[in-house]
Amino acid sequence: MMDLSDVPLVDHHAHPLSRPEATADAAGFRRWFTESTDPDVHVQHVPQTLFFQTAVRWLAELLDCEPTLEDVLAARAARPYHAWVQTLFKDANIGLVLCDYGYGGDLAYGHDEMKALLPCPVRPLLRLETLAQELIVEQETFDAMVDAFVATVDRSRTDGYVALKSIAAYRTGLAIGRPDRDEADAAFVPLKEEARRSGRVRLASKPLVDYLLWQAVAQASRQELPLQFHTGFGDRDADLRHANPIHLRAFIEETRTPLVLLHAGWPFYREAAHLAALYPHVWLDVSLAIPLATAGIPNMLGDILGMAPFSKILFATDAFTMPEMFWLAARWGRWGLGQVLQQFVQEGFLSAEEAWRAAWVMLGENARSLYGLRREY
Ligand SMILES: [Zn+2]
Repeated sequence: MMDLSDVPLVDHHAHPLSRPEATADAAGFRRWFTESTDPDVHVQHVPQTLFFQTAVRWLAELLDCEPTLEDVLAARAARPYHAWVQTLFKDANIGLVLCDYGYGGDLAYGHDEMKALLPCPVRPLLRLETLAQELIVEQETFDAMVDAFVATVDRSRTDGYVALKSIAAYRTGLAIGRPDRDEADAAFVPLKEEARRSGRVRLASKPLVDYLLWQAVAQASRQELPLQFHTGFGDRDADLRHANPIHLRAFIEETRTPLVLLHAGWPFYREAAHLAALYPHVWLDVSLAIPLATAGIPNMLGDILGMAPFSKILFATDAFTMPEMFWLAARWGRWGLGQVLQQFVQEGFLSAEEAWRAAWVMLGENARSLYGLRREY
């Protein structure tokens, strides 16, 4: 068995932790083990998942308690939160986190708090649709909003961001069109009215999302900033018919900006692997599918690694809210990758040295190189 626990993970896509009270009781803890937002699923069915049952068993081993939810909750609550976070991150051997603060809610920690909590460096990602929503509220006209959007994206590298990120897949789909300025302006009007009425806005207007994406990718290209795209599952909002990464082909063909397809496009990971194999500027991230696919992870990785270059695959946790999620994702990911690479060696496809090299690049080196992080970690 190939044990990859000594290979550090560069977690290039994750979200902030929440204050411990958010996950202190059984209901607050269980609900993060599923993509579902339905309380019946959280109560009735999450405890019947492989992911949850294994998590309780593994955490009980780490906490040295009985493998029941009640004992795990009590044992983690007995530890100072900061120390528990440090234990999990060090055990998971996570060396660096790139964090998207656009998801998290009221109890989520901010960037300075995350830097103080984690035993490793944390760098921020800029979520484009969240930025656009804020600017629609702040700015009075379409022109002023677009100018402010372009200016913010334009200085994102200077402001410390290491990549941009889009959730177009969950809002308006990945078949990104070419709306002109007038179409985008017309789409802005009702959103601005909504913003005036309620003080907030949810951007789900296709002409505007697509128009702003083209503006953003032009700025990303100038700064050599990668752009992360959510693909496949990852949000209760997602209509998977529009989140298949194959819809991105026209967009991919019109830019040379590095594009990262998040979540392996699950369940469309073969399509995502194909795109990563075909285009020099497309990378494939396997987070969220790892850990949620659990026992199915080696099958998925077998398909992906059988097709796409090792130099194009990135591991991450997509963890959020609970420090345990970072630890669980890292553990499932190293287990699945170890299984697949071990099999490649046993079959005589790879030498042991080549398998180790592949693990090293996918768990960290590819991300360090793609995001220009070599010097700091
Ligand atoms: Zn995410």
